[in-house]
This record gives sequence, C-alpha cells and structure tokens, in this order.
Amino acid sequence: MERPPSVDRLARSLSDSGLPAPMLVEVARAAVETARSSGGDAATIATGLAHTRRRRLLTPVVNGTGVLLHTNLGRAPLAASVAPTATNLELDLETGERGSRQAGLADLVRAATGAERGLIVNNCAGAVLLVLAALAANRGVAVSRGELVEIGGGFRIPDVMRQSGARLVEVGTTNRTRLADYRAVIDDDLALIMKIHQSNYRIEGFTEAVPSADLAGQGVPLVVDLGSGLLDERCPWLDGPPPHWLRDEPGARQTLDRGADLVIFSGDKLLGGPQAGVIAGRADLVEACARHPLARALRPGVHVIAAFTETLLTLLDGRGTDLPFWRMATTGTDELARRAGAMVDELGGSIAVVDTAATPGGGTLPDVEIPSIGLLIRGDVRAALRAADHPVIARASGDDTIIDLRTVHPDDDELVVAALRTARAR
Ligand SMILES: *Cc1c(COP(=O)(O)O)cnc(C)c1O
Repeated sequence: MERPPSVDRLARSLSDSGLPAPMLVEVARAAVETARSSGGDAATIATGLAHTRRRRLLTPVVNGTGVLLHTNLGRAPLAASVAPTATNLELDLETGERGSRQAGLADLVRAATGAERGLIVNNCAGAVLLVLAALAANRGVAVSRGELVEIGGGFRIPDVMRQSGARLVEVGTTNRTRLADYRAVIDDDLALIMKIHQSNYRIEGFTEAVPSADLAGQGVPLVVDLGSGLLDERCPWLDGPPPHWLRDEPGARQTLDRGADLVIFSGDKLLGGPQAGVIAGRADLVEACARHPLARALRPGVHVIAAFTETLLTLLDGRGTDLPFWRMATTGTDELARRAGAMVDELGGSIAVVDTAATPGGGTLPDVEIPSIGLLIRGDVRAALRAADHPVIARASGDDTIIDLRTVHPDDDELVVAALRTARAR
C-alpha cells in the first residue's frame, strides 16, 4: 500500500521515541486519521500516541507502594538475568544423551523441602490443574466448603476442578468443617483430599477447620495447595529468625513432614523467585503428574528454569537477603529511616519522613502489616511519578502521596529522588 508522504514524514519525526519503524508508521497513520476526522494537530497526536505505546512495553519501574508482592508489578521482583548462551536445558552432560529439563531443579526442590520428588510448571494455577487432571480425572476430590476460593485473576477452584475432569466433593460448611465430614465422603471413588490455603481471605468467628496433619493418613492421598510457597517455616536462608509476620504461615517442608502427600505452591510469592508452580512430595504421585500430557503443555521455559535455579541456590546457600523479596521482608526500619533521611536532605522542601505499614501482598497474608518508613509528599503526585523516565509507583494517603521505602531497592533511591525532582518541576 502506498503511504502518503505526510505519514512517512511524521513517522520519521518520531524516530527517537524508542519504537520500531513499523509501529511508528502505524502511529503516524492513526494520528493523521484522527487529525482529519476529529481535528487537532497530527504531530502532537502522534507524539502522545508514540509515548503511550512505548510505555505499554515491559519496562522497569520502582515499587514505592509498600506492597511487597504487588500483583500489578509482577509479584516478587526479578532477581536473576539469563546470559545469552546455550544451556544444558535438555542435555545430560554425563552421557551426552537427551536429558530432562526438570532434573536439576527437582534436586534443588528436594533439598529445600525434603520432598521425594519435585516438578515445575508455569504457575501455581497450572500446578493445581495438572495435579487434579493427573490424579483425579473422573473421580472425586474432597474440599472443604470454607476453602472453595477464588484467587485473583479469576482462578476459581470449582471451575479448575471442572476443567481437570475431576468431580468436586464439597465437605462441611462455609465456616465449620470437621474431620468426620471428610471421613463421611471417603469411598473407592474418592481420589484425593485437597486442602487449599486461605491465602487472600479469613473466616472469623464461629469457625472450625481441620489441620492438614489430621487429614493425612486417611487412606486417600492428601494434596495441600499452599499458594504462597514459604519453603520452610524456619527460614534457614536468613541469618536471623523468621520475620514475626510469617509466624502462622505453613511451610512446604513442614506440611510434608506433617503427612501431606503432595504440596503445591507458587514460585513468585513468598519464595521470592520467578512465576512458576511447584508440585512436590511423593515420588509416585509427582511421576504421574510428569507423565500426564498436560505437563508438556505447562512446562516452563529456559528463562524460568534459569531464574528458579538461581533463586533456590541463593536460598539453599543461606544468602536469602540477596533476593530482592527477602531483602524487603527483613530490612530494619532504622535502615529505612536512614535512607529516607538522606533522600529528604537531598531534596529539601516539604517532603516528610513518616511511619507507614507495608503489606505482603500477592494474595498472601491478608491481615498482616509490616512496620515501615515512607516519604510523604503533599498532594496527589502519583501520575507525575509514573510519568518519570524511570517510573516510580507510589500510593495515595488521603489527599497526599506516600513512597514506601521498604519496597524500594536501595540502589533505586536515586531514581526516586530523580522522579520527585521531575514531579516537582511539573
Ligand atoms: C496464588 C495462589 C494460587 C495461584 O497461584 P499462581 O502462581 O498465581 O498461579 C493457587 N492457589 C493458592 C492457594 C494461591 O494462594
């Protein structure tokens, strides 16, 4: 198709927008069209459109929200980068034959959780689907009515159950479920008992639930969807004790020790790694999952395997705070206050250092607050901070704005100062 010279000229004038030439032509054409139909200056429209398109591409931002695992910001921050090189992804370096992309990572999952075997898929939702399809198709799965959850993004347990071909066997009531309720539905057709962690909600008041330890050994395999993926309640990857706010969170290792046959969890929540789902536990059950055709459809790519390998090596080496998530989770408020003071000194003016409450986020630990320190800026300057060259995502506090320093990596303090300078200049 012939392009009018005006479109070509306009596209060329946008060449420093950071977009590739074919997109610039599309932007220029749309701008000329809009200017013709609705009026306005095509060049101005095109510049705005190119800017919007550029910022829609994946780009680094500073998380100043105080939400450690912010869903909109990709949950646990990326810690690893992958070198542009070939890998032994599916090559056994001993034999020279084709190997398994899962084998090395499975060794690390075993070391971290004590599981007999582990399997990695693309996310925890995929792991739940695979377990149900592989172990319970055309059979029953007992779940407490108090645990029929919806995770963010429309992942509803009853819907996943239907997709997998398993039959949901509801047990107990919304607020109270007892061991006898589970026992009453155990028969030859029941394939699994499934316990689902109440990740993002709490039921309070007149409640009763059965701990996973009591559901083990009922003659039916027990699968626990832990969601958040705390590997070990003792947090052996930290120098000090586990953070106080994790005290009620079940660990994968402890859940297996208490008798679960399988645990399922996310890689990018409390584990602090890339988006992934882990299935770990009894070797025969994990093997059945690995052999199911869905396992091929849900298998992770080399970037995920590389990042997950690095994450688990870091944790197993006892260097947990080298991971951005665990660093945020454990930094003392005195250190945050020191950084805040230095930033205010640099900026001067009306910015105040305030006590704040950060939250774990990511659909975990809904009623937990983590003491933190933030910068308080008068007025709502969130849009101006997002507009900075390196966007800073802040949160509103009444009519004002807070940048919570617990979720800001210390190396990014300069970026926050720069964004605040830009915002002030607007
Ligand atoms: C978060 C969560 C999931 C879904 O995990 P994704 O990694 O987002 O797919 C499933 N089950 C529970 C209990 C969760 O908390």
